[in-house]
Amino acid sequence: MEEKDFKCLRCGAVNKYPYEKGKMIERQCRKCGSNSIRIVKEKDANKEQKK
Ligand SMILES: [Zn+2]
Repeated sequence: MEEKDFKCLRCGAVNKYPYEKGKMIERQCRKCGSNSIRIVKEKDANKEQKK
């Protein structure tokens, strides 16, 4: 399983979490415990952009 960068929408912490395409994996922010974390796309990693 590969790991991708995910960003917490609550506290903004970015950490690596397991990622498997097409599979829902429960993830929790390691800093604040929120489960509102979103994958950070590599090409968007250095700019804040909503889609
Ligand atoms: Zn957090």
